[in-house]
Amino acid sequence: MKQTDQEIFATDKASYVPVFNRYKIVLDHGEGVYVWDNNGRKYIDFLGGIAVNVLGHAYKPLVDAVAEQAGKLIHCSNLYYTQAQADAAAKLVKLSGLGKAFFGNSGAEANEGAIKIARKYAHAIDPEKSQIITAWNSFHGRTLATLTATGQPHYQEGVGPLPAGFDYVHYNDIEELESLMSDKTAAVMLETIQGEGGVYTPENDYLKKVRALCDKHHALLIFDEIQAGIGRSGKFFAYEKYGVKPDIVTLAKGLAGGVPIGAFIVTDEVAAAFKPGDHGTTFGGNPLACAAANVVLDTVPQAEFLHNVETVGLYFKDKLAALKDKYPTLIKEVRGTGLILGAELTSAEHGRDIVNDCLEKGAIINCTVGKVLRFIPPLIITQEQVDEVVAVLDEVLRKYA
Ligand SMILES: *Cc1c(COP(=O)(O)O)cnc(C)c1O
Repeated sequence: MKQTDQEIFATDKASYVPVFNRYKIVLDHGEGVYVWDNNGRKYIDFLGGIAVNVLGHAYKPLVDAVAEQAGKLIHCSNLYYTQAQADAAAKLVKLSGLGKAFFGNSGAEANEGAIKIARKYAHAIDPEKSQIITAWNSFHGRTLATLTATGQPHYQEGVGPLPAGFDYVHYNDIEELESLMSDKTAAVMLETIQGEGGVYTPENDYLKKVRALCDKHHALLIFDEIQAGIGRSGKFFAYEKYGVKPDIVTLAKGLAGGVPIGAFIVTDEVAAAFKPGDHGTTFGGNPLACAAANVVLDTVPQAEFLHNVETVGLYFKDKLAALKDKYPTLIKEVRGTGLILGAELTSAEHGRDIVNDCLEKGAIINCTVGKVLRFIPPLIITQEQVDEVVAVLDEVLRKYA
């Protein structure tokens, strides 16, 4: 029997570890860029499951591929081969121009594996070459190593001791990185575009200069594209946009359109650092997740698909800039590229209220770090759908201006 919202809230409160500050709706189903709650209310979804539902909800080819694979073989262990996994890995290798892929189940696991293989690779050069440098304000996940990599101290409070060997620099500050690097640096790990930290893009050839420093010190360059990859920037990999190639790139969120998956992709030289038994996973890259990933990997890299991300993204960014001009006391800056866009508020005072008010008016958006309205919608949105959300935002912002 279908429960009421109040019953579900009560069951959750009594039964679930209270780590999520949830919005008070119970979602039931979706189609395209829209979702419906338990009471049949429709919402336009400009969060897309936090950059996950890149093809929207209930995308028929994805639903069919998952259903077909589930009817054949959901899981079989990595002790055996499956065509779905081999195909997905081959596609990632081809798209990235790197050498080998490995599948896990989440972003944190992808980054954990990337850090681990980077350390292993560096260890063979010099056992003391273990330093991992990441950026302040970054987000890399919530396992112990990845939350240590995450340059936001509040995530690390009270759970130490943390793994050693991590240092932090300010994103876009090349001098600071230069002063911290040495031949003991195993890897520099950066989000190509910072997402969770407030949507910051690289400036002034920053990533090219980071690449040069890594080459100088024979350190590996790891790009975390868990949020910015899979077409979100307008290129399949965001690093293509900045003309820089990493040694390792990590993916997750959008990679299987909503089915849990994560991946790291490495050069052949780095891949050789792992021998049989050095790494593994029970679920990672199972045929169900890979069947879903194969649909995404056949769809998102197409020129017309990426072109839509680029053009709708520019249109959306212009509309946000117009809102900033209209409400200068509320919006300080509009940032981002493609369909990873942020509007920084002048203060954190109304961040959550604005998101709640939009929800009440039928639009799902997000606010990160308390004061950056973040837009990471499905990549299939149209200009009309942008207009729909911008109209809601306009109405809501008027209230606080
Ligand atoms: C979401 C995210 C992660 C963590 O992914 P999980 O699947 O939640 O473990 C890591 N890095 C970036 C950039 C992310 O956006």
